[in-house]
Amino acid sequence: MRSFVHQAQAQRIVFGVGAIASIGAELDRMNVGSAVVLSTRGQAQLAGRLAGLLGDRAVAQLPVAVPHTPVEVTERTLAVVRGHQADAVVSVGGGSTTGLGKAVASRLGIKHLVVPTTYAGSEVTPVLGETSGGEKTTRSSPDILPDTVLYDVQLTTTLPWSVTVTSAVNAVAHAVEALYATDASEQTDELAVEAIGSLVSGLRALRSDRDSIDARDQLLFGAWLAGRCLGAVGMGLHHKLCHTLGGAFDLPHAATHTVVLPFAMAYNEPAAPAAMSRIAAAMDTDHAPSAVQSLVRDLGGPTALRDLGFADADIGRAADLAVAHAYPNPRAVTRAGVAELLHRALDGDPVRPTSGTVNGG
Ligand code: NAD
Repeated sequence: MRSFVHQAQAQRIVFGVGAIASIGAELDRMNVGSAVVLSTRGQAQLAGRLAGLLGDRAVAQLPVAVPHTPVEVTERTLAVVRGHQADAVVSVGGGSTTGLGKAVASRLGIKHLVVPTTYAGSEVTPVLGETSGGEKTTRSSPDILPDTVLYDVQLTTTLPWSVTVTSAVNAVAHAVEALYATDASEQTDELAVEAIGSLVSGLRALRSDRDSIDARDQLLFGAWLAGRCLGAVGMGLHHKLCHTLGGAFDLPHAATHTVVLPFAMAYNEPAAPAAMSRIAAAMDTDHAPSAVQSLVRDLGGPTALRDLGFADADIGRAADLAVAHAYPNPRAVTRAGVAELLHRALDGDPVRPTSGTVNGG
C-alpha cells in the first residue's frame, strides 16, 4: 500500500534560452518596485547586465557572495538592502549567491528572484546552510524557498569546464540519494531517474561537443529536476559526509561531491540494490557506482580527495564528525565504514561491484 508525505511548493519557474529577457515582467508580477542585485565578484559583469535590464528598479549591485554563506557577509548585505528599503533581492549565480539571497530575503521577509548559473539546485530548495565562527549550520523553512527562478541556458555557456563537470555531478548526487531516501515516493523516484538521465546524457554530449547548447539545456533541466529531489526528501551519507568535508576541512563543495559520490554509492549499494539498478538503467550501464566514477574520469573531473587538499591525517576526525549525529541512510553508518570509504576516496581507488546485500540501519 502507498504511504507518503508530499509538501507542495509555491514557486514560479521560467526556463529557456534567453529567459532573462523576461526579468522585468517577472518582477512586475511579483509587485517589486526596487531590488538589490547579488552575485560573486567573478560574476559582477553579468550581474551588471541584469541590473541594466531592471533600469531604475535596481537600487544597488553587491558582488559580495562567497561560499558557505558566512553570517558577516549576510549582515553587511542586510544593511545595504535595509538602507535602500528594497523590496526584493535578485541573486545571479551559483549556490553561493543563492545562499546569500536566501539568507537576506528570509530575514527581511522580502521577495527573492534567482537566476541560477550552475547546476547546484539551491534555488528550488527551502534549505539554507550558513557559517558562523567556522561552524556550518543548516535550516529549512518554507520562507527560504525563492519566489521565482529564471533558468537561462545561455548563461551557463560561460561555466568553466571544471565547474561544469563538478556542478553537474553535484546535481546527480541529489538524485542518487533521493532514490534511496526513507521518505522517497513514486513521484520523487521518477523525478530522480529523469534527472540522472538528463544530466548524464548532457555530460556525455558535451564531452563530444563542448559548445553544444542542447547539451547545456539537458544539464540545466536535469539540475532543476535534481534540485527538486534535494528539496523534497532527506539526503543520506553522501550529502552528510560532503557537508562535513566542506564545513570542517574547507574542501570545495561541488568537487568534493564529485570525488565522494562513487564511494558513497558503493558503500550503500549492498543495502539499496533497487535504487542502484534504477540509476544503472538511467545511465545505460550495469554498475552505477563504477559508471559514475568512469564518467568523471573521462570528463577530466577530480577523482581523489588528496587532490582537493584532504590528507591521511584528516580521516579520523572526518569519520568522527560524520557519525556524530544520526541520520537516515540505507546502510548503517559506522565510524569504521566511513573511515574505510575515506581511505579509498583519498587516492581515488577504483570502485567495484560489491556482492551480497546487507540490512539497513
Ligand atoms: P558557487 O556558487 O560558489 O560557484 C562556483 C564558481 O563559479 C564561483 O566562482 C562563481 O562565480 C562561478 N560561476 C558560477 N556560474 C558561472 C558561470 N555561468 N560562468 C562563469 N563562472 C560562473 O558554487 P556552487 O557549486 O554553485 O554552489 C556551492 C554553494 O551552494 C555551497 O555553499 C553549497 O553549500 C551551496 N548549496 C546549497 C544548496 C541548498 O539547497 N541550500 C544546494 C546546493 C549547493
